[in-house]
Amino acid sequence: MQPEEPAPIPGDPPDFAVPTVAVHSRAEQEAGQVRLINPNPPRLSELTGLFQEIEAIGRFSNFGPINQRLERALVREMFGDVGVCVTVCNATLGLMLAIRQAVGAPDPRRRYALMPAFTFAATAQAALWCGLTPLLCDIDPETWLAAPGAEQELVARYGEEIAVMVPCTTFGAPVDFAHYDRMARATGAAVVVDAAAAVGSRDCAGLNLGTGQAWPSVFSMHATKPFATLEGGFVYSADPDRIRDLRVMANFGFASGRSAAMPGLNAKLNEVTAAMGLVQLDRLAAIVAHREALAAAYRAMLPDFSFQRAAIAVQAHVFLPALVPARGRAGRDAVIRRAAAAGIEIGAYYDPHLGAQPYFRQTCRSGPLPVTDAVADRMLSLPLHDTMTVTDVQRIAATLRAIWREIDR
Ligand SMILES: *Cc1c(COP(=O)(O)O)cnc(C)c1O
Repeated sequence: MQPEEPAPIPGDPPDFAVPTVAVHSRAEQEAGQVRLINPNPPRLSELTGLFQEIEAIGRFSNFGPINQRLERALVREMFGDVGVCVTVCNATLGLMLAIRQAVGAPDPRRRYALMPAFTFAATAQAALWCGLTPLLCDIDPETWLAAPGAEQELVARYGEEIAVMVPCTTFGAPVDFAHYDRMARATGAAVVVDAAAAVGSRDCAGLNLGTGQAWPSVFSMHATKPFATLEGGFVYSADPDRIRDLRVMANFGFASGRSAAMPGLNAKLNEVTAAMGLVQLDRLAAIVAHREALAAAYRAMLPDFSFQRAAIAVQAHVFLPALVPARGRAGRDAVIRRAAAAGIEIGAYYDPHLGAQPYFRQTCRSGPLPVTDAVADRMLSLPLHDTMTVTDVQRIAATLRAIWREIDR
């Protein structure tokens, strides 16, 4: 039996219950229905040992022993024991802290945060909370990352007004740190990498994206990401002083005692979620490998669709992005509609892109975005999660091929 839906709370936006966080029910699965995202954090019922440890210690937050253990394990397992991590209660607050730390006190002469238009709302929101104006740039048609040429055009135009560049590891793809180092030297701007979707994206040496880089990378442990907990994240940097600052800032700016010495807010991760992170870290490599196998099956089964080009040995996938072969937005929308009728939930991240969202149209500046528009128009997000099999992918891909044949007749 399904638990009853609670009555809506007055004032709640009607579509607040986003389908992407609902757990797949057994009935749905047996009926052949496929969700876009099916969160699969460690089972709470299997964490009783760690929970008892937390109770015995009696420390529930404030960088307690489980958080410390998680931070050390992240550096050891993901970053080859190079650099330092600080946990945060979500990546959006991690971005706010990292941008504020990198930029320093607000300066009206340096007011822009350069970022790709093709990213999640959190990137722009974090910059806005820091008093900056997001400056949106176009993307590369193959990698869907910020296009160096488009960045250059904006740098030529806004130059020293750019306080920070916030490149995004779009869908787990790697950003070119050397390129941003060069741009930082040329402009005096800082760099903060929105690596929210890149936990588990590794180079051929097995090191996670960001390893050894002094500019901070901000990662998410949200339930919908491959490194699924509940809400959580962490910031990594090879520079321990930067992480020390961020830890102070994440705790109200308290350097010692209860006396604020820096800008601050509360971004601390609780011990229960940190315990989930420890368990999830052990599962991470297998989860990412399974997701890569599913992605490879999609690519093989959908030769007419286009996929992201990502120069990285292992790419962590939240879902599998793909472009419809033709017919733009109308073709894309028709695929989503027909797939839904067949019980397959398909999304369209990041459509609308930042430049197409009403709040960001009011608050951001933007260069021309022809590639972002064209990619967003054709974008599909295909289901890909831990509990799916290659056989599921083959069935979904066969359905998509049949749907496309109908649409493209
Ligand atoms: C998920 C995500 C975020 C936000 O992460 P939270 O931990 O949910 O705050 C930010 N940026 C990108 C690119 C993301 O994918």
